[in-house]
Amino acid sequence: MAFKVTPFPEFSWSQSRDAIMQDCLRKYYYHYYASHNGWLGDATDSQRQAYLLKQLSNLHLVLGSAIHEMAHEVIVKTLERQSIATTDEWIRTIKDRLNRAYVESKKQDVWRRAPKKSTMLHEIYYGENKLPDSLVKLIAGKIEPCVRNVFACETFREITTQQGIEIVEAEQMKTTPFDDERMYVIPDLVYKRADGSYVIVDWKTGKEYEQNEDQTLLYAMYAIEHYKVPIDKVEIRLEYLLTGTHKTIAPNQAKMEETRQWVRDSIEQMKRLMENELQNKPLDESFFSAKPDRFKCGGCNFCEICPEARL
Ligand code: SF4
Repeated sequence: MAFKVTPFPEFSWSQSRDAIMQDCLRKYYYHYYASHNGWLGDATDSQRQAYLLKQLSNLHLVLGSAIHEMAHEVIVKTLERQSIATTDEWIRTIKDRLNRAYVESKKQDVWRRAPKKSTMLHEIYYGENKLPDSLVKLIAGKIEPCVRNVFACETFREITTQQGIEIVEAEQMKTTPFDDERMYVIPDLVYKRADGSYVIVDWKTGKEYEQNEDQTLLYAMYAIEHYKVPIDKVEIRLEYLLTGTHKTIAPNQAKMEETRQWVRDSIEQMKRLMENELQNKPLDESFFSAKPDRFKCGGCNFCEICPEARL
């Protein structure tokens, strides 16, 4: 498909889009609108800068994505009876990945030229060119428990002790229609048991939050509609890899209706921020009010360009 330059981005709904909108409307504007076309050779300075800042990562994200990739490989290879690396090898791989992110972050000129090909850590970009010791210690302390718990979690136990398990989806970004819009979902893992029931797994490397459940209910909504699975045959499992615990959620009609209503309300709120809904043309930047907060602004990718950042 040929790449087409459009003046405004195509609209689609996702849970992360909703989270950014609820967090701060100005940040939402920078992330979804100001950065659009910032990758083009003739982008304006402000488009390019918003686009670059949108690509910033951080140590928690790098660790989370390394653990997700590991869990994916361990589960898929185990089911396919392929050999897998040991826990010690995984620990080394993940430490290397974090070190690489740090080294790449020191080369700002390289990152500026191709921001999707290397990592720039927020902590380095906005910090004093070094990582805070307390953060390094915190992240380092998470690696080993998370890696060990991939091999000790309920999902690994089930796939290694039960027959007839089939992977349905793993780490694939999917779009699904929702009313007249498109919704993005990326379930970490969906597998089917021999009895026809579906398990939706979400790996978590952080603490337990209520929003974690909302996100998985979206995946359940997707599985029910996409695979035509009866609701009583869907089980959601949140795997907390840091603590080695898990939580099972059984979706029901009331929860599904609440989830649908949440998505509808969120889309409606997003549309109120558009001057032209068909084009996804936003209102003027001034309508996207800033919500300054010392803690949030400190972790925001866009504080460099936000006149109202509170630091
Ligand atoms: S710096 Fe603060 S006020 Fe500005 S966009 Fe980010 S979170 Fe919002």
